[in-house]
Amino acid sequence: MTTSSRGTHTTTQRKNPSMCQHQPACPTADSADRDAARLLAHHPEQGWSLLCNGVLVFEDTGELLPDGKIIAPHRSSRGGQTITAA
Ligand SMILES: [Zn+2]
Repeated sequence: MTTSSRGTHTTTQRKNPSMCQHQPACPTADSADRDAARLLAHHPEQGWSLLCNGVLVFEDTGELLPDGKIIAPHRSSRGGQTITAA
């Protein structure tokens, strides 16, 4: 009888190689909340921002995820919010 229980099922996902160094941690790039992550870099003159979770957000609200996935621009139809208000 082998009683070796291999703990191969770790709860930590490897999809997030660079997690936040702060608390509370930002939403992951997979999360629908990803826009709520902290800004690491903001380059309005180039039209993009880098979030703490590795997501690149463009001024047209399009996004580029760390794994290369592209999110189409999703302007709010309400027209109330503008990220480049400053
Ligand atoms: Zn963070």
